[in-house]
Amino acid sequence: MSDRIQSNSRLRRTACWALAWMFLLQVTEISSGAYALGTAVGDMRQSASLSGGTSCPRLTRFDVSTPGAINRQWSTSLGTSPASIKTADRSPDGQLAEIETAIQQSLAAWTGVSGAALTAASLGTLQRTAAAAACTPTDGMNSICFNQQDAGFAFGVLAFTRVVTADTLGEQLSPSTPPAAFVGEILDADVLLRPGDPNTSFATPAALALNPNSYDLESILTHELGHSFGFGHSGVWRAMMFPFAPPPGQFTGTRPTAGAPDAQLSDDDRTGLRVLYPDPGDFTHSGAISGRVLPANPLALPVAPAGVTGVFPAQVVAVDSATGAVVSAVMAGWSCSNPGPAVFDGSFSLQKLRVGNGQNYEIYAEPLDGPVTLDNVIYNLTSLCRNSVTDPGWPAQFACTVPAAAAPFSARIRPGP
Ligand SMILES: [Zn+2]
Repeated sequence: MSDRIQSNSRLRRTACWALAWMFLLQVTEISSGAYALGTAVGDMRQSASLSGGTSCPRLTRFDVSTPGAINRQWSTSLGTSPASIKTADRSPDGQLAEIETAIQQSLAAWTGVSGAALTAASLGTLQRTAAAAACTPTDGMNSICFNQQDAGFAFGVLAFTRVVTADTLGEQLSPSTPPAAFVGEILDADVLLRPGDPNTSFATPAALALNPNSYDLESILTHELGHSFGFGHSGVWRAMMFPFAPPPGQFTGTRPTAGAPDAQLSDDDRTGLRVLYPDPGDFTHSGAISGRVLPANPLALPVAPAGVTGVFPAQVVAVDSATGAVVSAVMAGWSCSNPGPAVFDGSFSLQKLRVGNGQNYEIYAEPLDGPVTLDNVIYNLTSLCRNSVTDPGWPAQFACTVPAAAAPFSARIRPGP
């Protein structure tokens, strides 16, 4: 079964380092690099009925057309020596209830964003399982594990999310799991928190103040669940999907309330979610700003691969002119027209911006030269380009190669006509 995943699915392991996030890619008829959202390229070695007929990167996301279809479970197996999860209530039942509340609030952050089609109704009932190793990528069950060892826990990795996406229509993880309805559909997404490490523990919001050396469970879970819903990392410091976790004893954003279940998130996260799960009834966030990031001197572009005509990658940020708040940032530098492949022409497209009287934005571009780098936002370059090196037998007309990251640059905006 693992062979099948290796060959037919795109397995993305998103590591989260002690400080960290990802971006979103908008894919429509004419697409261009947008938020650090996960993407997948359909398998163009297959017939068009299986590949979808385009080598343009497709956003990775769940199918939310059927209510309750996104199943969820969490493992009640907790490390005890050392204790990996600190709770205020130490009774067995109370501890589990407190952890489950943190999970529910982390899920509610992502399902509580106005103008997105991912809602509480999209999720199935959160189940419990006693199995420690419940996070398996072949069962189609989206699991959270606190006590499962995995080779993904390299030094410094607090948690990671393993996302399996379809690169052909109809793809199944096993005969008992539903077939993929589209290329890029998330078939399985498991969240694993680091277990059995005497130097690493997590505390629920109720227990964090008393355990200042622990990481905030809610911040870590909300970030990882962002990956599980299709996000990559964002380069915006305040964003939940920034690639680096807050230090021990601190948490990201504001604690959620009944009236603001998504308070942990930043506007950058919310904008990304609206791009990923667009709500056709959302007329508030219907604005877009697009353009290209070009070098003043074309000779500054990389020689290889051929055909690179713009800066890649760049972070393009939209700031609300009235408030100075960062509304959205995208990872820019490419575009794609069906049937592809992606071209690296410096394109960016900021989507799902709020519109209205007096609503203005200022935008700027900056290089991804630290602390967030291209490696932080795209772990698997085949999510943008596949070719005969990555995939033997790949058709040449649909092949591309991601260029090396652009050197640091300074940006000037050319005034419009
Ligand atoms: Zn992450």
